[in-house]
Amino acid sequence: MSGEKILVVEDEKDIQELVRYNLKKETYDVTCADTGEDGLKQAKALLPDLMVLDLMLPGVDGLEVCRRLKRESATAQIPIIMLTAKGEESDIVTGLELGADDYVTKPFNVKVFVTRVRAVLRRNKKEPTEVQGVLRFPELEIHSGRHEVLVAGKPVSLTYTEFNILKFLAARPGWVFTRYQIVEAVRGDDYAVTDRSVDFQIVGLRKKLGQAAERIETVRGVGYRFRE
Ligand code: CA
Repeated sequence: MSGEKILVVEDEKDIQELVRYNLKKETYDVTCADTGEDGLKQAKALLPDLMVLDLMLPGVDGLEVCRRLKRESATAQIPIIMLTAKGEESDIVTGLELGADDYVTKPFNVKVFVTRVRAVLRRNKKEPTEVQGVLRFPELEIHSGRHEVLVAGKPVSLTYTEFNILKFLAARPGWVFTRYQIVEAVRGDDYAVTDRSVDFQIVGLRKKLGQAAERIETVRGVGYRFRE
């Protein structure tokens, strides 16, 4: 579990130091970069297990760093947690759509931050949760082949789109997806799903899921996440 390499790209020295100190305490192998250019260089050289990337950097900013890393096959798989300031929802959405894994808003609680780091590292190692076409959670089962959903053992009738949205979110518990990513994932050939209709579908889905409804979490200004 320990010794995993984490690259921290952050120009604010105090935050960089806070992050470095706390990750080292967790026995991660931490390297820091102060600029986007250096971050890119280090990412290519180190191929870290995870990157903590501030979005507001002088010169090449965090989103551009993310874009460049995801474009190259050698670095595309490096998981990224973005550090953002309050009110940067549109940047968060852009970052997630570029392929970043998660984000933490500054100022952050160190415990929450470390938990996110662990979760992203764990998720990227874990096998898919689907076993023989079935996603199982304590109160919820999703059967892909049969297009069937059981809540506390009882079948629930979902529309085609509701089912696909649920399956898409549940396949990656804990990940935040933007509306656009959901639209892209569930888009049928003959049926147009829009950003707005994702919200509409989620409302319907929650109603039908009953006690499992709380699994689908709204991430304000960003999108949705299936609770682990
Ligand atoms: Ca900054």
